[in-house]
Amino acid sequence: MPEHFKVCSTCRKPIAFGASYYQCSVSTCQRGKTALYFCSVECWDAHLPMMRHREAWAESARAPTGAEWELQQAEEAARAAKSAEERIVNENESNVSAGGGADIPQEVLIVVSKLKAYIKAKSGMNTSDGIVPVLSDIVRGLCDRAIESARSDGRKTVLDRDVKPTS
Ligand SMILES: [Zn+2]
Ligand SMILES: [Zn+2]
Repeated sequence: MPEHFKVCSTCRKPIAFGASYYQCSVSTCQRGKTALYFCSVECWDAHLPMMRHREAWAESARAPTGAEWELQQAEEAARAAKSAEERIVNENESNVSAGGGADIPQEVLIVVSKLKAYIKAKSGMNTSDGIVPVLSDIVRGLCDRAIESARSDGRKTVLDRDVKPTS
């Protein structure tokens, strides 16, 4: 923990924890790493010629106490850690969608509308959505066997002849 909250941006005098200080009303003088802190209105006055503000005034503020400052630092560190964590999660997610992950998607492999149209045309029957994951699993099973068949032939391409009917 530093000895004091900030130093005055004009005269470099320390602004103690818990002390009152002044900030410029202009937002660009308050924000980020270039934020300005003034020990007095005179010191605030001194920055005006450099900044050429159209309209500005000194705002009185109170520096956090040592304990408050430490709390703020801890909160900021926690926030930074959390956003770093979120970044890692997002990166992992994009890896999976790019095919780099270990998770093999268990999604629908059937064109549902065409399947329903086929059943309707063939039989006039309706089709329950419940058959879609079941059929997808069957297709996955057929693909897995076809992959094995291609692999045992030393091929890197699955061919039509690798796909064998179940019965
Ligand atoms: Zn000063
Ligand atoms: Zn300013």
